[in-house]
Amino acid sequence: MIVDLVLSNTKAYIDNEIVNCSLAINQGKIFKIGTEANMPRTDTKIDLKNLLVLPGLIDVHVHLRDEGKAYKEDFCSGTAAAAAGGITTVLDMPNNKPVTMSVETLRGRMKVAERKILVNVGFYSEFPKNMKETEEIIREGAVAFKLYMAEQVGGLNIDDDYALLEAFKTVSRLKVPVAIHAEDKTALKKAEDELKRANCNDIEAFLKAHSEKVEVTAVERLLNIAAQTNVHMHFCHISTENGLNAIIDGKKSGMKLTCETTPHYLFLSVDDLRRIGTLALTMPPMREKHHIATLWNGIKNSWIDILASDHAPHPLGQKEAKSVWDVKVGIPGLETTLPLLLTEVKRGRLSITDIVRLMSEKPAEIFRLKGRGCLKEGNNADVVVVDLDRKHKIDSSRFHSKAKYSPFDGWNVEGKPVKTFVGGRLIMDEEEIVGEVGSGEIIRRE
Ligand SMILES: [Zn+2]
Repeated sequence: MIVDLVLSNTKAYIDNEIVNCSLAINQGKIFKIGTEANMPRTDTKIDLKNLLVLPGLIDVHVHLRDEGKAYKEDFCSGTAAAAAGGITTVLDMPNNKPVTMSVETLRGRMKVAERKILVNVGFYSEFPKNMKETEEIIREGAVAFKLYMAEQVGGLNIDDDYALLEAFKTVSRLKVPVAIHAEDKTALKKAEDELKRANCNDIEAFLKAHSEKVEVTAVERLLNIAAQTNVHMHFCHISTENGLNAIIDGKKSGMKLTCETTPHYLFLSVDDLRRIGTLALTMPPMREKHHIATLWNGIKNSWIDILASDHAPHPLGQKEAKSVWDVKVGIPGLETTLPLLLTEVKRGRLSITDIVRLMSEKPAEIFRLKGRGCLKEGNNADVVVVDLDRKHKIDSSRFHSKAKYSPFDGWNVEGKPVKTFVGGRLIMDEEEIVGEVGSGEIIRRE
């Protein structure tokens, strides 16, 4: 037998260990893992010279935009950014134009994506206007629902506890997670209106509005509703001490809960936001130092399940405005996440095991992405090759994303994804995209 490809001389992360081995890849799958002598024949062999090979990362929080927001990012530029960042699968958020919140919009989005994607893409849907359509959306292949609590985005009335309860009951029957943007609309709106009336339009005003309490209020409200059901809630981008503590309490009580945080809440503080300005504005915003310490602790103790980038690109022009309320929130993150995490491996704050758990294994498990998340025979050949010793500087002008800025611009990092394989095909090689669009797979919920 002759296989498509053999990756030789690797240090690969297999079964929680880094082992010297070779990997044979055939028809998009990992065919064999073993010693070089045991590899099947191939015409294409790549000598990886002892570089580290990890399961491709899965980023569960990405805004790929496209369609009516293609000027911000499109499926091609967004998935190129993912590949450059060592990420082989992304889950796409639904706040698009049109909003992904029906069978029709989901189908349309998949169709646009199909021919343009370089890595695998799964799709979130917001809740539909007609709750009867919930099941059809899952049958169409959405991997999870997303629920924005900060503003009304989908068809489910977020002010109505009873409607939320009914939606959670339906979703728990379908066994898909609901991913929550936890900021309470009522509390947020009240604070925002008061500040606007007082003519407070700067970053300090934004921070006052998007307080810790706004996050905690949303978390607690949803925990109370969800406790009456068997729904699996996944809290997105948790940023505060008490937000995380409320989730930990819920977990301890036996609820089906998972949560994520993002690199910008781990590596940047409110002082960085003040220094950099609205370019670094995200929602929720960066926090005081004690929150950061709590989040790192949450990672250490595995209370935080997932790290995700919350890649949310906008043109630079939309990142500045006279009033902070007019600034678009969000920053690109696909190309900075892995180098930032690898640098912490060098510093001893994280291990390779942590990175694989937070960005491959857990995402695959929580969102039920079959055949992904670890290197084993029979799994999809989604693989990232990492050079742990490569020192470089984050240079946002070289991003593949359309958003060519970053609060991490100019940071010295150590460790770099140097090759990304998606379904056995080489997509990124030394920062360059060498794969063809359409190489990624649309991931449909089975
Ligand atoms: Zn987001």
